[in-house]
Amino acid sequence: MRQFTKAEARRNRIVLFAILAILVIAVVFVVSLGRQTDKAKKKPAQTQVTSQDTDDLPEIALRVGQELTLDEEIYGNSEWESSDENIVVVGSAGKMIGLAVGNCEISTESNGITKTVPVTVVSGYMTPEGGEPQIRVVDGVTYVNGILIVNKTYSLPEDYNYGADEEALAALYDMFDAAEEDGIELFIASGFRSYEDQKVLYEKYEEESGKEAADTYSARAGYSEHQSGLAFDVNDPSDAFNDTSEAQWLAEHCAEFGFIIRFPKGKESETGYQYESWHVRYLGVEAAKEVTESGKSLEAFLGITSEYQD
Ligand SMILES: [Zn+2]
Repeated sequence: MRQFTKAEARRNRIVLFAILAILVIAVVFVVSLGRQTDKAKKKPAQTQVTSQDTDDLPEIALRVGQELTLDEEIYGNSEWESSDENIVVVGSAGKMIGLAVGNCEISTESNGITKTVPVTVVSGYMTPEGGEPQIRVVDGVTYVNGILIVNKTYSLPEDYNYGADEEALAALYDMFDAAEEDGIELFIASGFRSYEDQKVLYEKYEEESGKEAADTYSARAGYSEHQSGLAFDVNDPSDAFNDTSEAQWLAEHCAEFGFIIRFPKGKESETGYQYESWHVRYLGVEAAKEVTESGKSLEAFLGITSEYQD
């Protein structure tokens, strides 16, 4: 094998170095090219998200029956539209009313910019402003301060026929479980009753004891809280239940699960019904605790009556 001369060896080293340098430059170039391609791919999506033709605003939560006027500083004073007028209606001055439980959005367009606000309407209690009860009738169903009300003043439509309320029923079973842990057995004696069921029941009582007496312990069709799916009679719906340890446990603990003893002792003139230790009504924990702690009947708490028109 021939030995390289010193000059040849130096030339070879230069060539080798040059090839290495070109390789390094090529690698750096390819890598940076790849990064630029990635950026280019991401860019259009970013542009869409931040484009100037939509302006998404935070969600608004409303109770059924609640009125709210949109803050002009944030929402402007333009004309708003609701995507579902069965859930929320909104007027030109940004005055909106929750009509039914559900989700929709309200939107407005000005200067080519569309503003969209998601709205969730929930059922439940809200603190009245100024103490006056806020009474709203939606499809024949009355909500007072967001609470669905059925009594002798406020009835339900004949076709209000949805069975037991799922949330109320789940809370009821949670309560039964807790009672069991305390050695108390509770069970449903009577839950949801349709308009027709109530009609049959009331007419039977009316026949037995006359209208005046029947009205003190049974509701006329359309006026029973049982039709709302939010009321339950437990164990034994009779005066024999009043002095039991089960009735005592119920009175002490039902608010923790969102229920109230709907027809308390001594409040007959307010509720329109005699004391019923077995009849609980679901309001949700917040409202049930507030009503119970007030010591008032639901009618007195809300500032409403319970009287038949005739
Ligand atoms: Zn009942």
